[in-house]
Amino acid sequence: MDRMTCRACADFLADYLNGELADDLRISFETHLDRCRNCRAYLDQYAAVIKAGKQACKRENQLASEAMPEELVQAILEANKDR
Ligand SMILES: [Zn+2]
Repeated sequence: MDRMTCRACADFLADYLNGELADDLRISFETHLDRCRNCRAYLDQYAAVIKAGKQACKRENQLASEAMPEELVQAILEANKDR
């Protein structure tokens, strides 16, 4: 577990942001983030999207899970890619 791939990193992202990663995983995750600029950027964008999504559906908790569309994440990732 000392070497985390970008793919694994993406899988753990949600858990990491929720503070649900076990200590050893979190350390591997953070070590990877330290070395990998792509994953750091991804984490930033992901966190921003989650935050925006939460604010947008504060009043509509029922729809919260649907209101975090994959398209939104992809759109933001695409938009940033072109810069
Ligand atoms: Zn990475």
